[in-house]
Order: sequence, then C-alpha cells, then structure tokens
Amino acid sequence: MATSVVEYFTEHDGHRCGYCGSKDSNYSRGMWAHSLTCEDYEDLIDRGCRRSGKYVYKPTMDTMCCPSYTIRHKALEFKISKSQKKVLKKVTKYLTVENSGIDKKQKDDSSAAEVVSKEKTPGDDRTKLETERRNCNKTSEDNMDGACVSREQIKTSPPSVNVKPQFTRFLVDSPLEPGDEDDSLEHGYGSFHQQYWLDGVLIAVGVIDILPHCVSSVYLYYDPDYSFMSLGTYSGLQEIAFTRSLQKKAPSLKYYYMGYYIHTCPKMRYKGQYYPSFLLCPEAYTWVTLEKCTPKLDVTPYAKLDDSHAVDEPVDTSQVMVLHQRQAMPYMIYRAIKRNTDDHQTVEQYAKIVGNKFANNVLLYRA
Ligand SMILES: [Zn+2]
Repeated sequence: MATSVVEYFTEHDGHRCGYCGSKDSNYSRGMWAHSLTCEDYEDLIDRGCRRSGKYVYKPTMDTMCCPSYTIRHKALEFKISKSQKKVLKKVTKYLTVENSGIDKKQKDDSSAAEVVSKEKTPGDDRTKLETERRNCNKTSEDNMDGACVSREQIKTSPPSVNVKPQFTRFLVDSPLEPGDEDDSLEHGYGSFHQQYWLDGVLIAVGVIDILPHCVSSVYLYYDPDYSFMSLGTYSGLQEIAFTRSLQKKAPSLKYYYMGYYIHTCPKMRYKGQYYPSFLLCPEAYTWVTLEKCTPKLDVTPYAKLDDSHAVDEPVDTSQVMVLHQRQAMPYMIYRAIKRNTDDHQTVEQYAKIVGNKFANNVLLYRA
C-alpha cells in the first residue's frame, strides 16, 4: 500500500507578494512532500494547501497582506456566464467557422473530433481543419448549457520529464503517487499535462491533478501570441467540462478546484466568475458560497467565512504519525525514544496545518 511521507519546514519569512507588490508580507508554511497518495493530497487542499512541484504550502491567512482563499466549484451545477460564453464563441468561431475548409460530414461527426488541429495553408490566409483520432479525453462531447465546447484540442498525458530543471521542478515534478485502485478512469489518478494544440503547435499546457473527488488546476502556461483567445478563461471552462466528463465514469469526482481566490487583487477575482463558487473557511474548514463571503471580504481581507459555530477540531499531537529511522510510529513513542527532543511545538504547528486525519495517516519525517 502506498504511504505518504512529508518533511515539514518551520521557516516563516515574509516573501514578496505577487498580488499587491508588497516586499515582505506574503507568509506561508510548507512541507516537502516525498510522496503523497491522491487521497492524502486531497485532504491537504481541503485544509487550504496547494502544491508547487513537490513543495506543498499553506498561506498564513491571518497575517498575510493578500489572503488566499481556496476556491472550488461544483462542476455539475456550473452555469456559464455571458462573458464566458463570449470567450467560448470567440474561440469556437476561430477554430471552426470562419475560413475553415472543414466539410459538413466532419463537422457532424463529433465522435471523431477528439483532437482537432487547425492548419494554415502556406501562402494563403485561409485555414483548414483536420480531425484525427488520438488517445485523449472526450470533453468535446460535453456541452455546457448549450454553449458549444466542441473541437477543442485536449490531450491528457502524464507529464514528460525531458525538460529543463527549473521547469521540471515547478511544473513536472509531483509528489502524487499515480493511483489506479479503481479502473473507472483509463488514465488513472495523479498529475497530468493537458496540451492544447493548434496548427501542430503546442499553444498552451494546463497542469492538473486528477484526484478522487476533484480535478485540481495547478497551473496554466501558454504562448502569449495566442492571448487573444483568452486561454485562461477558456482552459477553465475546458477543465470544468473535463471534470464533468470524468464524473460520468467516476461518480464521486465532481468538484473543480481553481487554486486560490484573492479578493484583495481585482485581477484575481475572475475565479469567482465560475458559478457556483465556494470558498474554504480558514477557521472552520467548511465551504461557503462566494456570495456570502464577498460582503465580509469587502470590509476586511481576512475573515472567518463560516457564520455558524463550526470550528476546527483540536489537534492531538500524540497520534501524529512519524517516520524515524525507517520506522513508522506515533509521535508519543518517538518522544519516548528521543527523550531530549524539543520539537513538540513544531509537530503541533504541523498538525494544526494539516489536520488530524492527515496527521494520523501520513508519515512526518523525523531525524
Ligand atoms: Zn499582497
């Protein structure tokens, strides 16, 4: 059975904030994830954590300048907005309608439209659409409220590794152990790159994690030459459609996580435009509809979002599982062995971040 192992870091320096530009008021705590099962990682994102490569961090919400609230969407209840519909129409038009040499038969044959590539004819500004069958997902068949999302070009593949170290560390490395416990998804669970191809050119890549209950968006990067296609919005819509298509095969997989919602940064509020949105309460760890949160966040950047009396459960450090000299043991045993250890505060801090369930399942490395 796969076991998750993490190493917790206590450093807590302020870093530059990418949202408001402040020099040193972006705080987070983090751990190096040597390995994580998809279930264990899901527990972490439901505690407000995110991963960057194999590093998993949690913003220190109550002290940072721009609190980062975990945002998720119920993919099955998704309602497309007018502006999102516009983006879809724009992209679809660009891909399929104007100047395309596609014939009627191809257009109607949606089953063959899993991967579409748009080719420019040399010396001619007209475009030709080609469809070809490849091993990829079928989000093309998933329409959202009549908005056509067909003929997109998504291929789901395990991340390739033959790339530069920094890219690898940030966008390819993943602590997630590919889970294949149930075979409802042909590609299984874990970390993937969704590639968007156009004219045989890779124009965007979405890094996603497919987990038991959700698709979690990690990062999107794209060729700036194609920014006119609003690829950020487009890929969000695609990933919601993708979640819906996976749900048909794996019924419990019904949420789409977009990472962090930053209310203090107007540019980052677009994530709240995917309806319905829910934010994770940073104190009760329950989900609250965005409409209920925004009046509070308009007043103060940090707020307990859940109005009920719900609070986080108290941590029990004695039951935190640790890995010491290749042996798994509860922290209380470790303390009995290492009598002079003074790491109780560290372990308590770790347990508060990850929660009891995670702390009781996952091994915390101790020297
Ligand atoms: Zn900030």
